[in-house]
Amino acid sequence: MKDLPPEPGLYVTATPIGNLADITYRAVDILKKADLILCEDTRQTAKLCAAYGVETPRSPYHDHNAAKVRPEIIKKLQDGAVICLVSDAGTPLISDPGYKLVRDARDAGAAVFPLPGPSAAIAALSAAGAPSDRFFFAGFLPPKQGARGKELEKIAKVDATLIFYETAPRLGDALAAMASILGDRRSVVARELTKLHEEFRQGTLSDLASAYKDAPPKGEIVIVVFPPEEKAADASDVDAFLKAALGEGSVKEAAAAAAETFSIPRKEAYARALKLKGAG
Ligand code: SAM
Repeated sequence: MKDLPPEPGLYVTATPIGNLADITYRAVDILKKADLILCEDTRQTAKLCAAYGVETPRSPYHDHNAAKVRPEIIKKLQDGAVICLVSDAGTPLISDPGYKLVRDARDAGAAVFPLPGPSAAIAALSAAGAPSDRFFFAGFLPPKQGARGKELEKIAKVDATLIFYETAPRLGDALAAMASILGDRRSVVARELTKLHEEFRQGTLSDLASAYKDAPPKGEIVIVVFPPEEKAADASDVDAFLKAALGEGSVKEAAAAAAETFSIPRKEAYARALKLKGAG
């Protein structure tokens, strides 16, 4: 079968987060055939290209030149170019530059293709053992204490596993702030994923905070925080609720409302309501 050139468009291309082998065949193929590779740091991407024999021209696309070069890139896409966007590691746009380019490319009618692959957030979540049915990716917290606290207060209400990126020097302080604002939840620090010194350390936020305060780690870090624990319903709160509800409706109605409000089994709420009605 003839090897067709890739369709023109912007290819958002994931690259390894440490282990160079973590790249897809498709990513290597398109990187080789593209007209241009947009790199967060051309020197970083040069290493990947050297490893896979990719000789495609590279040019920088990062926070400092993005606004200036974006219109030229969009023009190239409109003219039918095949352009890959890569970041230094992982999936572009995930705490990395690129979303405005994707937005403008789409607005200009260009095709945008994801070339999926590694992302540190998903790699950490996949091996942390935290509930994974619902998660909130919070990216980097602000470095300053006040702003970080405000951000954590907003996030504290999220009923899901939380994923943060953090730098090694700030890890201890960030974990301590999380313990005091999110509550002392179970958590996992995932460090140097896919690299020689990969490490998963689990514990409560406060235990991890003190461990890392005494021995600041090296390398790249993802923090995975378990969701808030469901509070066990307090029996006296349920009874007070039921008494009020029994004044307005039947045992069945009161029990249904209590079960819903306190997330307790209907059977249990019904039995309590019956007892209270009998006692009243
Ligand atoms: N776009 C990337 C991705 O998809 O994961 C993330 C880029 S962000 C600028 C860099 C941060 O990702 C690091 O500071 C660290 O928090 C996390 N990270 C990247 N590679 C990692 C690795 N191998 N192990 C642990 N965390 C990593």
